[in-house]
Amino acid sequence: LALSLAACGGGGAGSTDSTEGAGDGADKSDITIGVAMPTETSERWIADGNAVKAGLEELGYKVDLQYAGDDIPTQTQQIDQMITSGADVLIIASIDGTALTSQLENAAAQNIPVIAYDRLIRDSENVDFYVTFDNFAVGVAQGTALLRGMGLVDETGAEVAGVTGPFNIELFAGSPDDNNAGFFFEGAMSVLEPYITDGTFVVKSGQTDFDTVATLRWSQEAAQKRMEDLLTSTYSDGSKLAGVLSPFDGISRGIITALQGVGQGPTIEAGLPIVTGQDAEIASVKLIADGVQSSTIFKDTRKLADQSIKVAEAFINAEEPEANDTDTYDNGVKVVPSYLLDVDTVFAADITPLLVESEYWTEAEVASGV
Ligand code: BGC
Repeated sequence: LALSLAACGGGGAGSTDSTEGAGDGADKSDITIGVAMPTETSERWIADGNAVKAGLEELGYKVDLQYAGDDIPTQTQQIDQMITSGADVLIIASIDGTALTSQLENAAAQNIPVIAYDRLIRDSENVDFYVTFDNFAVGVAQGTALLRGMGLVDETGAEVAGVTGPFNIELFAGSPDDNNAGFFFEGAMSVLEPYITDGTFVVKSGQTDFDTVATLRWSQEAAQKRMEDLLTSTYSDGSKLAGVLSPFDGISRGIITALQGVGQGPTIEAGLPIVTGQDAEIASVKLIADGVQSSTIFKDTRKLADQSIKVAEAFINAEEPEANDTDTYDNGVKVVPSYLLDVDTVFAADITPLLVESEYWTEAEVASGV
């Protein structure tokens, strides 16, 4: 569908050259790609935005990159503005995956292909493609990292004999308006549930529902507050908390601040509970190097940016983008063809081979945490 959209001209991507495709000789500097990113408060989105912009500009395209400060009306306005000023393709990492239906209708009316970036845009037939990481696999990796941090499995995932519970754990999930958050939680619970069922793990607060453990806008402050509340309500009798499932490094740091605030730690060696993470944010990578945060999940944003650029070019050239998953991401209206990338788990020993050697972070950044 998007192919014919891209090829049929109008104000859309095909307007430069609908027969040969823009990539085959038309002036790419006439083509503008609107890139809508959610927030600059988390480094990963800054890295994503920079990588998408640099890659597209290197190919000769114009780029309109906007950040919305995690404010939904700001993001809808930015996308409206991109459409009005003649964007030919839109790449969108949404804040609220359900809030963009009318923007996407306008885009479709102007034959502008829409690529959902990292987060699925829901409730709209006008999402042409989805580039992301394997979000369920991220959750599985987080659940497995919790087991490994707590010494229940080794680095191959094999169970370690003789480690028996019961261990108290608590669960945190991401933002309920972000489609990814449910995938992360379900993936993690697919690993943790058998341990809860057989009594190895006890979620002492009893809070195990996604809605109860979700963290609106992935807020570090909200996570810190919830952890403080849990410590007061559930652990002030001196019972030991052994591990916390955290879906994102910002949330992990909020949890760790709350734990250290009641005198736990300051390091894992000194008794801090095992806390997982996601995104390999530099502040958390340093905490992992320092033995404070246990693990994170590395999503190489450079690869996701490259993939989104390939998809954008395919639409511009009126070609079909390559999908590697066509049955997972149902947005409520249609199953969106997707390209899923792999992720890596990072414990302290993985920082150099995975993050430094790939030049994602320098050694100096890891040492300073900024
Ligand atoms: C992304 C995660 C990120 C989270 C918070 C999710 O949509 O997939 O990588 O941790 O948003 O920014």
